[in-house]
Amino acid sequence: MRALTFEAPGQVALRDVPDPQLQGPDDALVAVGAAGVCGSDLHIYHGRVWVDPGFVIGHELVGTVLAVGESVRSVAVGERVVACFHSACGRCFYCLQGEYQRCAHGRTFGHGSALGNLPGAQAERVLVPYADMTLRRVPEGMADEVALFAGDVMGTAYHAVAEGRLQPGESVAVLGLGPVGLCAVQVARAAGASRIFAVDSVAARLQMAERFGAQPLDLSEGEGVKERVREATGARGVDVVIEAVGSASALELALYLARPGGRLAVIGVHAERAEAHLGLAWIKGLSVRMGLANVIAHCERVLALMAAGVLDPAPLVTHRMALAEGPAAYELFDRREALKVILKP
Ligand SMILES: [Zn+2]
Ligand SMILES: [Zn+2]
Repeated sequence: MRALTFEAPGQVALRDVPDPQLQGPDDALVAVGAAGVCGSDLHIYHGRVWVDPGFVIGHELVGTVLAVGESVRSVAVGERVVACFHSACGRCFYCLQGEYQRCAHGRTFGHGSALGNLPGAQAERVLVPYADMTLRRVPEGMADEVALFAGDVMGTAYHAVAEGRLQPGESVAVLGLGPVGLCAVQVARAAGASRIFAVDSVAARLQMAERFGAQPLDLSEGEGVKERVREATGARGVDVVIEAVGSASALELALYLARPGGRLAVIGVHAERAEAHLGLAWIKGLSVRMGLANVIAHCERVLALMAAGVLDPAPLVTHRMALAEGPAAYELFDRREALKVILKP
């Protein structure tokens, strides 16, 4: 089959690779109908997350079940499914707490040997381990490119709002308006936020956040962002800050914008030592929650909200391309010319 592989930093290729085969009774094989290109794929593209050359990449997919192992119960051959970006066993210590993102046997699609050596979804076919945990049937009438968001981007946004323990009527600031941040604006709105401040420096992203009901704040105005949040909240700051960037400066801004006793949900990826004013967190008594999203736990609710039209990621899809155009798709995504690229095998 044909698949996109990582070759070297800045280089992906369309290659012929062996067809995946069922390996265990819990597995499924899925014919990919649509695969997303994600911000985290760029970490691989740049060589910051290392996968071996020739490894199939991609972790967002919708497709049709081609075959299932004998233990699989929740999906059947011929059904249209969305996959969560990683698998989970459902039986280990963490899965029994419902913390599927920490599964001791979890494997992430398309992230190389460090994350379970599971070939990715930017391919014609994909092997899905623990299919009962990893796959969900796509609600009738939902487009592939919408359903795909449940397995990663919208699930991560839902997680951020849940971790921020947002109550109806509270105020929120979302820092970083990539797909996750823009989806977080929608989820915060659905959760009853009275006021949503959306912070970024890209005009098109700020405009989209405004369309979704947020008050856009342009980061290139510098200190103006802090002042405008202070003014709008009676000098207190917001109840919940969602940090969807993953940089020290975004974390520091989050600490500034939160009110005393406020909550931070840090969903942007932090992998390195970083400096931020922790004294602010202490003096304000902030609650800070960080880490990978528990997408498997949220998937049913996210699909239900998208099926009802309460959440709608469709405006985020800016490019639809053939799998064979994958190398060009990565180049334009890397140039920040696309918000979400969908590849069709
Ligand atoms: Zn993703
Ligand atoms: Zn587990």
